[in-house]
Formats: sequence, structure tokens, C-alpha cells
Amino acid sequence: MCRSGKGSSAAPAAERIYLIDIDYSGLSGRKTECLPGCGMCCLCQPEILPQERSYFRKSHPKAMVRNGSGGFSIALKKGRGSCVFLNNRKCDIYGNRPTFCRQYPFHFYAGDKVSAELDLSCRGAWTGKGTDSEAEARRIASESGDRMAKAFRESKAVYEEFYGICTDAGVMGDPGAIRADVSSGIERFADLISVAEILEAALGDDPITVSGIDFRGKTDWEELRAEAMEASLSSMSSEDPLSLPVYCAPDYGWNMFQASGNRVTRFILTDAGDLEEVDSLNPGTVRLGKPDEEGTRVLIDYIKVLNSRESFLGNVFYKMDDLGYEDPMENVYAGTLAASVADLIWRASMLDAFMGTGLGADGIREAIIFYDMDRLDAPTAGAFV
Ligand code: SF4
Ligand code: SF4
Repeated sequence: MCRSGKGSSAAPAAERIYLIDIDYSGLSGRKTECLPGCGMCCLCQPEILPQERSYFRKSHPKAMVRNGSGGFSIALKKGRGSCVFLNNRKCDIYGNRPTFCRQYPFHFYAGDKVSAELDLSCRGAWTGKGTDSEAEARRIASESGDRMAKAFRESKAVYEEFYGICTDAGVMGDPGAIRADVSSGIERFADLISVAEILEAALGDDPITVSGIDFRGKTDWEELRAEAMEASLSSMSSEDPLSLPVYCAPDYGWNMFQASGNRVTRFILTDAGDLEEVDSLNPGTVRLGKPDEEGTRVLIDYIKVLNSRESFLGNVFYKMDDLGYEDPMENVYAGTLAASVADLIWRASMLDAFMGTGLGADGIREAIIFYDMDRLDAPTAGAFV
């Protein structure tokens, strides 16, 4: 995903048609359009698939750079800015742009099924205008050759092994039942005091249900603020601009935030690939705000998206592996979701402190635009195709 690259290691397309079921339910009823002048997704270094290399070798050899997975990607301006082909926020090679540029803002996640997911960091996913997302994603999938089928074969084997380990360790849960439980108590995840209580309950050894937590309506607010801040700042702490999250503002300014010492510095990434410092603040002074009624509604809709995403479940599975299979699936799931909300609200509060975005519907939407690329970039048990 963004900054760490559009793409994955993928096999060459084949002549055969590979039939797999893809779950498009997450796109149902949503439209997307590309907004002229945005260019945010061109900050994500696109991978060049093997079958696309000959065009670039012949026409743009200097634009090809080796990537971390042994393949090739398109170079970025000054190694940290937008793609070298983005000029005046338009693509110079639009008709020949790589597959991963054509796919965006859709991602195909291979877990124990393949699902299409929409990147809500794309401002064009929020206008309610444009093409039908599901139809567009179906068209993209139909042109993907065997990439998705191959990734699915591999992810299915990984998931089967994972389920076996979870069962042996006694931490296996029922993902469908976990999601249904979260769904029935979704408002709890949109209330910060309840979020703190869920985080605390998730630390227990026995499997929890949200409906079974004894919510007392009290929490150590300062501790929650510190935890939320720590989660947010961890993604802003890299010295490498390529690893910093980007927030594309309503004016299409490419904002980047870097945390260092007791300051968070806001930069604008220019079209030429330079970082211009705009402002800074002490993160300790950011007050954790409370979304208003409209903001809460936007937040609940986003929590529903997370609760339905296969990649979110894949991130939970990754964490269970990382934690050594000691924690019940129910607890890791609820804890991950609660921590995501705390991170998001701290970011909304930080954006408000820097830019006055507030914590109404607009402010929460801006925080989701800022946060979702990080969310989709979280490590998972499966793979994006
Ligand atoms: S992020 Fe979305 S709106 Fe912006 S350039 Fe990319 S596809 Fe278009
Ligand atoms: S090739 Fe074109 S669409 Fe793809 S990242 Fe570069 S400028 Fe953007």
C-alpha cells in the first residue's frame, strides 16, 4: 500500500482463466472516482509486474528500480516524492501505467477467501460519485490472469496451518461469531471510555465477548490518551520519509507528520519531492477529543468496515502468531479493533490541533483518510494481490 509500495510479488499472467470466488460485499453500494489534482496514490511506489517489464525496459529504463522483493518498481522523485511519471498531478504514461496503478483504490486480499477492499485514504472514495465500485473491481479481477488464484492457493495453505496451531494451543475462535458479537456492540467501540474497558478486558486469559464485558463507564483517561498517542506516533516515528504516513488534505496538499523527541512536525511533500516544514507541536499537548453525534456516526460506519474486512482479520491472525498463540482469538480481535479506534481518534485530535478539522463528521472523515492506508498496511497472515 501507500509509501511502502503498490503491489506484491506476483506470477506472470497466463492464458488460462482462473476461477475463484471473490467476496465483493465490502464494496456494495459504494462509488469511486479519481479527483483531478489529487495524485495521492502516486506517492505509493508501484511494482512493475514481470509482463510489464519489457515496456519499461524499452521506453523508460531509468525509471525502473529494484524493490525489496527482488522485482522492479517505478522510481520516486528524489527517492521519496511522487512517482517520476507524475507531473502537474497527471500521469505521463497513463495508457501504460502498471497494473497496481489501475487497481487503486481497490485491494484484493487473499486470506482463506479472496475479498475486494476499498482504500478509504482515497478521497475519491468519499464523494458518492463516479463508477460503481463492485463493477469496477470485478472488471479489474477479470483481467488479473492467475495472480489472484495463485495468491489464494498460497494463503489458504498458510491459513490452514494457522488454524491448526490455534486449535492445538486452545486459542481458536469462530471469526463469524466474533464479528457478530462486535457488530451487536458496535457502539461500544465508538465510545472512548468503553474502548479503554475493552482494551483492559482483552488482556485477560479467558475469551471475552463484548456483550459480556461489565462496562462501568470509568477509565483512567490519561492512561488511555498516552496509549492512543503511542499507537499513533509509532507510525510517524520513522526517519525515512518513505515510511511516514501521508494525509492528503481537502486542498490535495500532501501532508506528512514525523514524530521525533517531544515534537511532531508537519511537512508538505512538494510535487518536486521536497519536504517543506510547516508547523510542529508537542504531542503531549494534544487533548483526546470526543467525536460529536455526526462524527460518531461516521466512526461507527468505519468500525463496521474494519469488522468486515478480511485483511483486518488477517492482521489479528498475524498478531496472534506474534504473541506466541497465548491469547484467545476473541481477545486479540477486540483489542486490535479497540486500539485502532483509539489510534484513529488520537489522529483526529492531532489533525484538529494542527489544522482545525474538529471531531465532527468532517474531522473524523479526515482522520480516516489519514489512517486507512496505515490500517491496510498493517502486517497480515494473508497477502494483498
Ligand atoms: S488517491 Fe484516489 S482520488 Fe487521489 S489520485 Fe488516487 S485514485 Fe485519484
Ligand atoms: S505510473 Fe502513473 S498512475 Fe502509476 S504511480 Fe506513476 S504517475 Fe501514478
